[in-house]
Amino acid sequence: MYEICPECGHKHIVATLERGTVLYECGGCDWYSAGADPFHVGAWSVRIHQALAPVDILQSILTAPEGAAFLRPRLRGVSYLSRPIFPLESDLVGNEYVRGEMDIAQQVYLRQMIVLSASYVELILRDFFECLFRAHPLRMNQVLPPKDSNKAVVSLSEIVKADSKEALLAGLASQAAGYKASGEIDRILRELTADCRIQLDRPFLEDLRELKELRNRIVHDDTDEQVTFAKVHSSFGLVLYIIYVLSQVADTYKIPCWDDVGFTEDFRIKLAATTDQCEEEAV
Ligand SMILES: [Zn+2]
Repeated sequence: MYEICPECGHKHIVATLERGTVLYECGGCDWYSAGADPFHVGAWSVRIHQALAPVDILQSILTAPEGAAFLRPRLRGVSYLSRPIFPLESDLVGNEYVRGEMDIAQQVYLRQMIVLSASYVELILRDFFECLFRAHPLRMNQVLPPKDSNKAVVSLSEIVKADSKEALLAGLASQAAGYKASGEIDRILRELTADCRIQLDRPFLEDLRELKELRNRIVHDDTDEQVTFAKVHSSFGLVLYIIYVLSQVADTYKIPCWDDVGFTEDFRIKLAATTDQCEEEAV
């Protein structure tokens, strides 16, 4: 957030994380500033990558040609697969049968991963807005009631109950972020990216709408739509792209970001490489 020292103009600003708040210190003078709670870009990217590791493990087991033969003698649990209701049924649970159950397991799991990726979009947006409203409390005017008046009102009891002004604002930021994240996510992101003039590298909003619709069909309809591993990967790729876009929005809105794993830079490099590759293929 600070690139040069506002006191001495020194270009070496060190940012550290102190109890959840970013502390900026100048390397040339004794200026320092404690920013608001940062948007944890690094932590979110790690969480998303960790959510993908079990997909790899299960894909390796569930799609291996010899997977059923490997799994059958090792089956554990409470279902009839490991404990047949009638002892003779153990003969019926052959490799073919186990393979069928593995295919079902794969579909159940992949569909739930789509639901999980859609939940992450909501959680990340909520976290982002909480940071935005903590850094710029006046932006809550458009979100908190009474709506459409552009002047949010806080009740006397809320003020009396609050331990401090900071605690009151933090509570309001959490409430306002909840309202925002439960709204139309694609519309919210369209507004954010347009407002910050962010150049999008993919049909981001369409992909987001598609993910939301697929998630709703899985959760609300009795659909037998098949989900592939590639689809799950592309959904999580979209979640990572949202983190990347939000880190740019955070820059424009002057919201402190904490990216201790260098996710944004890595992602930018990967994105540029993919774009170059696509252009080469098109030539
Ligand atoms: Zn300085």
